[in-house]
Amino acid sequence: MTEGTGPDETVRHSKVVIIGAGFSGIALGHALLGSRFTDFTLLERADDVGGVWKANTYPGCTCDVPSNLYSLSFAPNPDWTSTYSTQPEIQRYLAGCLDRFGLRPHLRTGVDVTAAAWDEAAQLWRLTTSEGPWTAQVLVSAVGPLTEPKLPDVPGIERFRGTIMHSARWDASHDLTGERVASIGTGASAIQYVPRIVDQVGELLVFQRSAPWIMPHDKRPTTPEERERYRTNPRAQKIDRAKVYVSKELLVAGFAKQPKIMKVLSRLSTKHMESQVADPTLREALTPDFTLGCKRIVPSNEWYPALQKPNVTLVPEALSEIRERSVVGSDGVEREVDTIIFATGFHVADIPFADRVRGRSGELMMERWKGSPRAYLGTSVPGFPNFFMFLGPNTGLGHSSMVFMIESQVEHVKNAIRALDTSGASAIEVDQRVHDDYNATIDKKMATTVWELGGCTTFYQDANGRNASIYPDWTFRFRRDAKRWRPEAYRLTTGADA
Ligand SMILES: Cc1cc2nc3c(=O)[nH]c(=O)nc-3n(C[C@H](O)[C@H](O)[C@H](O)COP(=O)(O)OP(=O)(O)OC[C@H]3O[C@@H](n4cnc5c(N)ncnc54)[C@H](O)[C@@H]3O)c2cc1C
Repeated sequence: MTEGTGPDETVRHSKVVIIGAGFSGIALGHALLGSRFTDFTLLERADDVGGVWKANTYPGCTCDVPSNLYSLSFAPNPDWTSTYSTQPEIQRYLAGCLDRFGLRPHLRTGVDVTAAAWDEAAQLWRLTTSEGPWTAQVLVSAVGPLTEPKLPDVPGIERFRGTIMHSARWDASHDLTGERVASIGTGASAIQYVPRIVDQVGELLVFQRSAPWIMPHDKRPTTPEERERYRTNPRAQKIDRAKVYVSKELLVAGFAKQPKIMKVLSRLSTKHMESQVADPTLREALTPDFTLGCKRIVPSNEWYPALQKPNVTLVPEALSEIRERSVVGSDGVEREVDTIIFATGFHVADIPFADRVRGRSGELMMERWKGSPRAYLGTSVPGFPNFFMFLGPNTGLGHSSMVFMIESQVEHVKNAIRALDTSGASAIEVDQRVHDDYNATIDKKMATTVWELGGCTTFYQDANGRNASIYPDWTFRFRRDAKRWRPEAYRLTTGADA
């Protein structure tokens, strides 16, 4: 059974509701079915699965961690056509997983969960959705950290008469041919789409507030022989996956343990730039002013060549104003444009869904956090019984696959649901002291990392300047801590004794 009616006969009910059907929701669904747990529903607001890989359709959208690692460990795909897959291929992979795992009957698409409140008397979650009310004993937020696109607060944005789009809401029906386009931001998305649109547009202004570190890309198409080898010998793909994991993990030594190591990588990145950019003035404008690693490192062999095309102007300034038909940089120069593309990222540090979920006290999670999101293992928060989230505070990585973190959390959430189920209790809630100790350790570890010492301001920082996004340690430690069930970390209660 995937859904039925609960204590209130007229309201749909599932024992577990998972909000979101990206990597996280699908991985948890697979784990629940694997534990013979069938009373759960995946509520997804989009019309299909895939999460960011359904939403981000901009030209050139590709993962920047090799696909052998950026995929579910228990569902290897021998058929990737490239060592780094493109968005349509990853979305198809996830849709294929859904079917392969038998999750389709558990999925409800087109359902936006707009609010969730814990009902202490009934010991369950009451959800408000675009399809009416829903109840659940356990609520899992798998809404993703990069789910709510962020537009910068630029004066005049509402006055613009041309087209505005965000990279995460690409409008393919809008023809950019011959247009004057301003692209705002130089993060991972812009670095991927700028080389793809540069030959189509008339003029392209690239606004760069802060120059990114770019590494040489080792992307290449996979060969038929490789694919055949993976198909006939899945162990070979496992070994290649492990090699990628280890090579990525070595970067933690530089990020989190000894930031000086990043100097070696900086030299590699600088050489890459120098080999592609001859003009010393342009080189200077493209030289980052913070330690490598402080912001996500992006691989590209196409970014610098694209910036040097005759129809491109690099504006090494922040965008400071938008007028009816033009944009103005912080240099005060006004430039006419037809379309503005914002590659300005997402609301990350304010944790999506925290503004929609009310715990035992009736307080919203974001109110309780007072600007600084914290959770135990990025998953559970005191005062929010039977609630778990994926990729919550301090689970982000600047160097490796988020799927590794997701699979770690799957183990934790599965164990928590099992503990609740077998105990006969009605609620499970993380212990406040365990939560506080965990976060004190995170803060202590963060203090010596490149994110703290690297001299950059990023979307990783919350309203109080605390880094609420990054996990500041080896990822295998996170896996170990998430996997190992510590009964003392959680309180199991029944309605009467909560
Ligand atoms: C362009 C892009 C490229 C990336 N590349 C990489 C990469 O190379 N390597 C890497 O490790 N990570 C990458 N990431 C990070 C990515 O967020 C994670 O890797 C991973 O895909 C997160 O999966 P998820 O299921 O947790 O969240 P998501 O994929 O964001 O899925 C969340 C789902 O929840 C749904 N949802 C949200 N709110 C609601 C609601 N209120 N009601 C109902 N449904 C809701 C959304 O529609 C979405 O389908 C990238 C992100 C982006 C945007």
